[in-house]
This record gives sequence, structure tokens and C-alpha cells, in this order.
Amino acid sequence: MAKIGINIATGSLQQQEMIVGIDLGTTNSLVAIIHPESKKPVVLKEFDGNALVPSVIHFDDTGSVTVGDNAREFLITEPQNTIFSAKRLMGKSYNDVREHASYFTYKVIDDDKESLVKVQVGTKFYSPIELSSFILKELKSRAEHILKTQVVKAVITVPAYFNDAQRQATRDAGKLAGLDVLRIVNEPTAASLAYGLGLKKDDIKTVAVYDLGGGTFDISILRITNGIFEVLSTNGDTYLGGDDFDRAIVDYWMSQLELNKESVDKKTTQVFRLLAEEAKKQLSSADLFEGNAEGRPVSLSKKELEEVLIPFVERTIQCCKNAMSDAHLSINDIDEIVMVGGSTRVPLVKRSVASFFGKSVNDSLNPDEVVALGAAVQADILAGNNKDFLLLDITPLSLGIETMGGLMDVLIPRNSKIPSKAGRQYTTQRDGQSGMRISVFQGERDLVKDNRKLAEFNLTGIPAMPAGLAKVEISFLVNADGILVVKAKELRSGVEQSVEVKPQYGLTDEQVEKMLLDSITHAKDDMRTRALVESQTEAKILLDTTQQFLEKNTSFLSAEELAATQHAMNSLQNTIPAGNKDEIQTAIEKLNEISRPYAERLMDHAISTAMKGKKV
Ligand code: AMP
Repeated sequence: MAKIGINIATGSLQQQEMIVGIDLGTTNSLVAIIHPESKKPVVLKEFDGNALVPSVIHFDDTGSVTVGDNAREFLITEPQNTIFSAKRLMGKSYNDVREHASYFTYKVIDDDKESLVKVQVGTKFYSPIELSSFILKELKSRAEHILKTQVVKAVITVPAYFNDAQRQATRDAGKLAGLDVLRIVNEPTAASLAYGLGLKKDDIKTVAVYDLGGGTFDISILRITNGIFEVLSTNGDTYLGGDDFDRAIVDYWMSQLELNKESVDKKTTQVFRLLAEEAKKQLSSADLFEGNAEGRPVSLSKKELEEVLIPFVERTIQCCKNAMSDAHLSINDIDEIVMVGGSTRVPLVKRSVASFFGKSVNDSLNPDEVVALGAAVQADILAGNNKDFLLLDITPLSLGIETMGGLMDVLIPRNSKIPSKAGRQYTTQRDGQSGMRISVFQGERDLVKDNRKLAEFNLTGIPAMPAGLAKVEISFLVNADGILVVKAKELRSGVEQSVEVKPQYGLTDEQVEKMLLDSITHAKDDMRTRALVESQTEAKILLDTTQQFLEKNTSFLSAEELAATQHAMNSLQNTIPAGNKDEIQTAIEKLNEISRPYAERLMDHAISTAMKGKKV
């Protein structure tokens, strides 16, 4: 049966349109989709079988732009016109990158150190957003060429540590490239999704994503609960990767050949560097590499390579340790390890990571592709093709539960990003109360009767205890599919109960709008009503507890006190239905005033009784 996705937030029907997943990488970028027939994620490849597009932009004298392999060729010959690693500049000021200024072979403007960086090429200035947009434009047009259809919507991945400014910059770059960026997804989240982690509804997993690329290293610890990916910690080194491996191999060869690095010309260094990368790649599957650098025979065994690489790998393991301690986890807590980035093909890297975590690693997917593949999985979920779930980016209406007096207690306010999670503790009102009715509502009004009831269930089996002692934790979880799971758990006894609802199901755009409008037009009334209901509730609770007190302690009170209390209770009782908040408050104060002296007396008595027989 064909499925149509309905975006309830906008009420629009989602046609079967192509949403692509984009891994916008520091060194390489690529696009993936869910294959329409196999329903599996696949990366888009050009006819030459190449999926990776180097994230390199070249500007020629006329200002025309080339991206990818063709641009890469200019890295050595025209460094000032060839931009690489634009991602490192996203959302950054010159002050942020000055420490690594020598890394950039092109001109990064440094006259205003506080404002966002610009790159100068010839007489023109480009922001990192514009630069990234060139890469995205290229990816878009490639994808359109391969798919033979227009590509407008995309999911783009970013490192987990990207801040809001960097995420926004990435969104803007997408917009500039003519893309509608439906979601910015964390790279480690995407990588986990590519391995199917977190796709099962009840999945609860802790995942370590180890990402070692050409120039950067990231370790992220994620907790997946019911489709929500939470980043527990990130660590890494933004200037550590396969390029360092290559340089170390070059140094090793040069010292063997007794060549002075400083006196070797740029071209020779480049020849060595390319050969080093070739050696490194070959040794991921062979034991010995033999080559020739401008007439000089060079060789490298796997053992030698590993000796060269050990210090780098150890640095990454130290980062893993830091990430684990920041996440307050121990090794045993990690359920899965996901390998990302070309450099994780190095057997020493795999071995070291597996041995550190004491588990085998997930490395069956191409580590260069895994982030893009996961982005495609996310895109497919958003397209509504994945499940017959309804998808929303935000909750259009607030979600909450009914509390005493029929008031709405909001747990997830409207416009919260989803997935979203919230929890709050409640308690029992009566001694020995064994059950609690939990009614879930959606809407903006203060009284639940004006909102929409979504579900109702009973938490039963609360063990007998005095009122106020039970701790009932109610948690709301709206997963990425817009499904709300409400759980209630009594923390002392562990009894729990849960219910699942589709909060927006059946609401049209107009209905959502009307509910919002109502909340505005009734705001004043609602506030007044809430204040009144709160007073009425307070009055009822006070009457209850006073009644209980009297029953237990009649003998302790004088006849006058009893009569005065009874009188104050009656007056308070009478104010409740009348509905005047101030009158209720005055009556509450009066009753408190009368009961305070004997309550204190009783307290003193209780303390002195408790002290008796105890040696101080
Ligand atoms: P990425 O930034 O994820 O594209 O990773 C690129 C890095 O992975 C570069 O440093 C490559 O040299 C490295 N790489 C690619 N293939 C291999 C391989 N087979 N063995 C070792 N390193 C590799």
C-alpha cells in the first residue's frame, strides 16, 4: 500500500519527493539517497564510480568556480586561489583560527579579528557560508544529473560539537545553494543510523562513534533512547588525521634517506607525500610497500608503519578516555562502536579502538560513506517513506498533564524541537493512595477542559504510604516521528506504566491555528481562572490535612481551639464554591493562624518525646 506522509505542523501532504542526505565534509563531501527499489541507503556515484567530491573550490581569473577533483589539482599550483577546509572556518572569527593560520594556504582576512572570517581570492571576498554553498551547489547539480530529477530538499550533517552559529551557517549555505535544509543532523548520529542503531523503537543503546578522517579526529558518545539521540560527550583533535600519518611517513623516509626536510623543494615533498599516502593505503591490506620517489627507492613494512603511527593513535585513545570520563561512563557501558572516516581503515586504528573499548567495532560499511548513508536514512524518515509515522520538526501545541483542580501542567511547551524529552515529579494527595490517574492533554489553555485530551491511564500498585511521600516521575518523550510516549513511574517502589499517542493525529492546520488563537484571546481569563483554581486546590488540601490532624489529635486540643478550628474550616469550605480568590486566601490565612499555635505545640511535644530516653 502506498503511504502518504502528512506534515501535521503545516497540514501539507508530502509527495513522494527526493530528499537527499549530504555529508558536507572537511576534505570530502558526498550525497546519498534511499534507493527507491532496494530501500537501502546508497551513495550517489558518477559514471566513474566515484562518490567522493573533494571539498575544494578553485576560482580562476575570470571568477568562475570549479569544485571537486578538478579544483584539487590547483592546490599546489594555485594555493591562493584554491580553497580547502572551508568547513573549519564556518561560524569562526579570525581570533578563533589564528592559532592555525599557517594551515591555510589562501588568504584568511585578519584585519577585523572579532567578526566572522572572510577569505580573499583576488579582489573578491567570500564568507565560509558562500564557500560551502559552492560545494553544496556542486553536490546538488551532481545529484540532479545522476537522479535525473530536481533535488531541492536535503538533510546535511555537521560535527556534534558544532555550535548554533555553525549549524546556522551550514543551513544558510544550503539555502544559498538552492536547497531546503530540512534538518541538520550530527555526524555521529547519522553514522549510527547507517548501522541501523536507534531505528528500533525501543532501542536503548550507548554508542561510541570514532571518526578519524584526513584532517580531523572526533569521538562522540551518544545515548539512544527510543529514537532520541543525545550527545553525552564529544572530544577530539581538529588537527589530527590521515594527513598527519602521511607527513610522519614522509619524515620517516627522509630520515632513512638522510634527506634534510628543509632543503627539499616543494615538488619533491609533494611526490613523497603522495607516495606516503599510497603506502599507507596499501598497507591497510598488504604487509609491505615498495615504491620510488624521484629515483629514490623507498619501502615501508606494516610493522614500520605501525611504529610511525602509534603516537597518533595513542592521542586518539586519550581523547576517547576523556570523552568517557566526561560522559561519566565506564567501558562496559558502551554497547556499540561505530567507525567513521577513511583513516579508520588502518588496521592498527581498528585494533586499538577495539582493544580500548573491549569490543569489536562496526566497520562493515565504507567509512567514507557511512555519514552520508545515515543522512539518507534520516532524510527518508523525514520524507515519511520510512514508517507510517507522522513527522514534525517541532511540537505545534504544548503537551502536558492534568493536575489538581483540572489545571494543565505543561511538560513540553509548544514549538519544542523534536525529538524532545521532559520529566517532572508528582506526589500523592491522600494517605495510602495506591493509584494515580494520568491524563495527557495537548493545547495552550490553562484548564485542561479547554484543551484536547490525548490519553489517560492509571498508575496502579503504589505501595501504601503517607500523602506526599510517593514520588511519581512522569516523563514525556516525543520521538523524531512525532510519537509521544508518556511514562509514569513511582520511584520508591519502581511500579511503572506507559502509554503511546500520536499527539497531532487528526488535527488539521486550521484546528491547530484555532487552538492557538483561543489561547491568546482567553489568556487573561485563563490566568484568572488558574489563580482561582490554585487557591481552591490549596484550600481543599488544607481542609483535608486539618481534618486528618484533628482526627488524630483531638485530645491534644482545648475545646476552644477545636471550636475555633471547626468554625474556620466551615468558613473556608464556604468560600470555595463562591469562586473569589481573595476571599479564599483570607480564609486560608485565618485557618492557618488558628492552627499554628497548637501545631507548634504538638511539634515541641513530639520532639521532646523523641528525645526522651536518648542520651545527648
Ligand atoms: P576522510 O576525511 O574521511 O575522507 O578520510 C580521508 C583519509 O583517509 C585520508 O587521510 C586518506 O589517506 C585516508 N584513507 C583512505 N583510504 C585509506 C586506507 N585504505 N587506509 C588508510 N587510510 C586511508
